[in-house]
Amino acid sequence: MLSNSKRISILVPAYNEEEVLELFYERVTAIMENLPYSYEVLFVNDGSKDNTLSVMRKLSAMDHRVGFIDLSRNFGKEVAMAAGIDYVSGNALILMDADLQDPPELIPEFIKHWENGYDDVYGCRNSREGETWLKKKTSVWFYSLLARFTRVDIMKNSGDFRLLSEKAIDSLRQYREHERYTKGFFALIGHRKMPVYFDRPPRAAGTTKWNYFKLMDLAINGFTSFSTAPLRLATIFGFITSLVAFSYIVFIITKTLLYGDSVAGYPSLVSIVMFLGGVQLICLGIIGEYLAKVFSETKKRPLYLLNEKSLPTHEVK
Ligand code: UDP
Ligand code: MG
Repeated sequence: MLSNSKRISILVPAYNEEEVLELFYERVTAIMENLPYSYEVLFVNDGSKDNTLSVMRKLSAMDHRVGFIDLSRNFGKEVAMAAGIDYVSGNALILMDADLQDPPELIPEFIKHWENGYDDVYGCRNSREGETWLKKKTSVWFYSLLARFTRVDIMKNSGDFRLLSEKAIDSLRQYREHERYTKGFFALIGHRKMPVYFDRPPRAAGTTKWNYFKLMDLAINGFTSFSTAPLRLATIFGFITSLVAFSYIVFIITKTLLYGDSVAGYPSLVSIVMFLGGVQLICLGIIGEYLAKVFSETKKRPLYLLNEKSLPTHEVK
């Protein structure tokens, strides 16, 4: 069956995925066994609280091409992917979610483009079935804002599902930031890109690990990692309010000189003070977001820690 010596690594971050992991393994092996490549599947257990780790152990004991690394706690998908990327050994890497929302049936097409010289073959969603209206809408808003404020071209409608060439893997490994927005890195590394369109099915089993709080965190991260536009915006806003305040002062002084002073205007005074207080707090918050980034990066803490690892093994030829 094997007609060439290239190896494909499949990297799967998983957090509480005991229900789908075996199904995932079956679907993926069914596809991979019919391809003329050797392959490995590397699971990353991202501090799951259920039996995900024992399922991984079982699969890895059953099949030497399956391995896993077990992170010491839940680090989040972005860091879990970074950890996995450090341990894959293939000539190409396929990033997939454990919940089968990234159809393994697309792998042959990904590989075909890779063999034709593309470095980053990414899945592009036609539809977002099984997602709420609000999630779709917020995602559209987020990307249009991001596109407006950053110079990197972050691809809409694509997730982390993709194939990366050796070159792209090496490039990606060099991004060691703690506050990660991996999708932005895919854009930053450049290289030759090729979209593959598909319909994203709903989750095979289990529940989504995202909530609005996590999504907001990722969104703020995406923004502050790739753009300093909010800082600029704060400055511009500061200038505008100062200008308005200054014209108002001129107006008040002229009015007082012409018509004398009256003690009226208490409500307007309070509202202006409150408004300016709010603006100042927002600007401080924006500066704080960036300062927090500087703070967490300068500590140079390890990106992730492992409890144990059991990497895939390959027969020596
Ligand atoms: N995931 C992870 N760590 C987390 C949250 C999620 O490794 O803290 C994994 C999860 O197991 C899945 C993938 O990231 O393989 C995508 O998560 P999910 O399906 O919940 O996200 P959605 O598809 O709803 O965006
Ligand atoms: Mg999912």
